[in-house]
Amino acid sequence: MKKEFKSESKKLLDLMINSIYTNKDIFLRELISNASDAIDKLHYQMLTDKSLKMENDFEINLSLNKDDRTITISDNGIGMSEDELEKNLGTIAESGSENFKKLLKENKDVNIIGQFGVGFYSAFMVSDKITVITKNAHSNKAYKWESVGADGYIIEETEKAEDGTDIILHIKKKTDEFDYDEYLTEYKIKELVTKYSDYIKYPIKMEVTHRHLKDKEKDEYEEVKEVETLNSMIPLWQKNKKDIKEEDYNNFYSERYFDYEKPLKVIHTSVEGITNYKGILFIPSHAPYDFYTKEYEKGLSLYTNGVLIMDKCPDLLPDYFSFVKGVIDTEDVALNISREMLQKTSALNNIAKNIETKIRKELEDLLAKDRKKYEEFFKTFGIQLKFGVYNNYGTDKDKLKDLILFYSSKEKGLVTLKEYVSKMKDGQTDIYYACGETISKIDDLPQIEQIKEKDYDILYFTEYGDEFVINMLTEYDGKKFVNISNEKLDLDENKEETKKLNSDNEEMLKLMKEKLDISEVRFTNKLKKHPVCLTSKGEVTTSMEKMINVMPIDQKVKAELVLEINENHPIVNKLKMLYNSDKDELIRVSKILYTEARLIEGLPIDNPTEISNIICDIIAK
Ligand code: ADP
Repeated sequence: MKKEFKSESKKLLDLMINSIYTNKDIFLRELISNASDAIDKLHYQMLTDKSLKMENDFEINLSLNKDDRTITISDNGIGMSEDELEKNLGTIAESGSENFKKLLKENKDVNIIGQFGVGFYSAFMVSDKITVITKNAHSNKAYKWESVGADGYIIEETEKAEDGTDIILHIKKKTDEFDYDEYLTEYKIKELVTKYSDYIKYPIKMEVTHRHLKDKEKDEYEEVKEVETLNSMIPLWQKNKKDIKEEDYNNFYSERYFDYEKPLKVIHTSVEGITNYKGILFIPSHAPYDFYTKEYEKGLSLYTNGVLIMDKCPDLLPDYFSFVKGVIDTEDVALNISREMLQKTSALNNIAKNIETKIRKELEDLLAKDRKKYEEFFKTFGIQLKFGVYNNYGTDKDKLKDLILFYSSKEKGLVTLKEYVSKMKDGQTDIYYACGETISKIDDLPQIEQIKEKDYDILYFTEYGDEFVINMLTEYDGKKFVNISNEKLDLDENKEETKKLNSDNEEMLKLMKEKLDISEVRFTNKLKKHPVCLTSKGEVTTSMEKMINVMPIDQKVKAELVLEINENHPIVNKLKMLYNSDKDELIRVSKILYTEARLIEGLPIDNPTEISNIICDIIAK
């Protein structure tokens, strides 16, 4: 007698049968997981019920029949009684499919649903008929369930020798939209098992055809069929660390992530308690080729009990650790969970938090114990950590600030902020930094002289984001960050003379400032040999101006520039003289001085032709 599906099941079936876009591949994963669960159940019941006996080793068998267009998935698990068949396959079961009911009500996109699977019914994505033959381990009777889809199903008694379940999928015919024939190839089935079900703990066996060379001379081959176990069963992360060699980790890494270089660091982690998970994380030794492109997707593979639920789960990694690769396997997340639900699962959030802390601790450890390796890491991914400091309004800055390295003028290498502060001189209250394109360009900055003379260390910022980092931190260990190019920086106590020089020449400096169209021109005692330097007032420094203005935003910023002239340089007298005798010439000379200062700072020149003409005129005189 034909029976109707319950209305919700019907809707689901309609979706499955008619969906052309969903990820059809997952049907096999779903059926294999069911088979594995059924074996688990029998296994478990055997522990207490001595009447249950096992005839064969537990296993899942797959077989293909190209002529009949069928795939059969067989297990020797618990099987189903007539009632169970009715209840489990006639309606949407309470478990995983519960999520699905919700999604249906919310009218969610089928694509999303298909990614997570909805159990048994997903087989209708690829089959036009499904036959289930099953015998419950507690009974002698076997039953057949059969359905051609939304129409309904029949259940009748049948014969079956052994306990367990055979699911026979009658694969749909090839259409213009989709090549179902692929599922009837050994190659595709093998691929699906290794991708989705590699770590199912029972062997998944299939008869596989191999070609052997029969006659070398005649170049003749024969086809031999052999039963092969398709899955590796025990994932590396489930094994005991003691039993794993470095090479095993490296092979696992290179196979999965197609990286020819060994990972810089392997983190094998296992956590039990409120959250339970095992996993292996890798820090690559170099940035993946697409790391700095939009195409790069961060995330860890998420498994539940050895079954892959998501290839790259982004929620498991903060953006600043997006370079980390790896897998996480947890019992705390259900297989049939939807993506929306996944994000809300507290288990997942807890795992993500744990992982974040774990990675951070491992990096701190590396920094403390293997400086060379850490610096290698930092050169590759440091920019990511810096980004972590200033991203999200600095939410994570305290977690990351001790992992950041900067170039130190005294060490001529990288130091942490902690190291900088610990080596500060008596009387030094601030942390000094300078920005520039390269180390050597910063070395040549005129402003540097006064600080080096005091034997203070200076951090050199040559990388994008460096200044954002310290702007976000504002201080370290109570010490302020001070840009050596800030106009206020003045380490010389003997200022009276300078003040007088400036006020005596107020009018001239004002004229120069106006003609140069900058914030201020003044004499300074901070320079030793150089005639001029450029500093800035306020928040926006020249390097920030450069950085912000290359961003694709409408609002451009401008640093408030101050041209500072060395009070001890012979140019001072020349300027004073010109002010009294030839103001036009004074302006021309000022323009050259300002251009020099801009060049030293690495800033562009707005009027190169005018400047070069002035220089030529002076030379020709
Ligand atoms: P779920 O696995 O999330 O419960 P399914 O729709 O995949 O949802 O399966 C419904 C139910 O059918 C399962 O809970 C299980 O009780 C039963 N079932 C499915 N496949 C098998 C099988 N191979 N052996 C025994 N029972 C099965």
